Amino acid sequence: MKSPRFGDLATFNRLPYVPDLKGNDVSVALLGVPFDGGTTYRPGARFAPRAVRDASVLCRNYNPNLDVSVYESLNVVDAGDITVNPINLQITFKNIEERIREVHEAGARAICVGGDHSILLPDLRAVHRRFGKVVLVQFDAHTDTADSAWGEKYHHGTPVRRAIEEGLLNGSEIFQIGIRGPLTSPDQEEYVREQKINILDMDAFCDPKKRDQFFNRIRNAAAKKPIYISFDVDGVDPAFAPGTGTPVVGGMTSLEALQCVRKLKGLDVAGANLVEISPAYDHAELTSLLGAALVFEFLSLMALSKKPKAK
Ligand code: MN
Ligand code: MN
Repeated sequence: MKSPRFGDLATFNRLPYVPDLKGNDVSVALLGVPFDGGTTYRPGARFAPRAVRDASVLCRNYNPNLDVSVYESLNVVDAGDITVNPINLQITFKNIEERIREVHEAGARAICVGGDHSILLPDLRAVHRRFGKVVLVQFDAHTDTADSAWGEKYHHGTPVRRAIEEGLLNGSEIFQIGIRGPLTSPDQEEYVREQKINILDMDAFCDPKKRDQFFNRIRNAAAKKPIYISFDVDGVDPAFAPGTGTPVVGGMTSLEALQCVRKLKGLDVAGANLVEISPAYDHAELTSLLGAALVFEFLSLMALSKKPKAK
């Protein structure tokens, strides 16, 4: 409360900048991942960490919707950005995995603000090493289960398929919310069916009964293991989140997105990422403000979780 919110250098949620976590009792590290080398359409997600930091200065401590004072339960820091190589995906993936491993070794959990959705794969590699197979709760317009594009196996449309192939996830423990078409062909749904991936498409999303059933299934799957939340902002309708690379109309509202995240209350959140915000396509900071609000909801869930600190 000493200096106004529009002053000083912007960090996530005006938190202290602590890049070296060793010896600090940190529960959650927020990390920027300024990388969009995996995009197939509009680029620009490399600029999202800075935009979300700017939009997050209005963040406060108490979450009235979940009745939790986040920073009284958790010691959260902005650990800075992960060093990326803007023209080399594999080097970037290696850096992401190593940096998250450092966070885990310091006894903390990581929330990454990307970046395009390709960064999900190295995030999950690190999370798998620390927590084993987690339940993935993914908000997205797309299933991200493509095999390749232009002969390339690693881009923002493939991380879920690669994660299953690498044994990081079970298809039946993946829950995708906000999925909608159009698709290239009906074959695209075959892989999702084969792997038994759980999908709440937008038609089902609009049916309160089906939506509740879906969240009950997530709770059952997460009864004995942690969840990982991956929020691709294009899961939200472009009327509410225009600043994104691969927009699809007919999605959820900002409020519905926040309410869905809050439905995960009580589950053990091993980590989270927020991806695909492309500030150059944003208007009035709509998408960045939503992004900052979502990160606060992730932190609120972690604060409520029975085991907020790493085991
Ligand atoms: Mn998407
Ligand atoms: Mn995605």
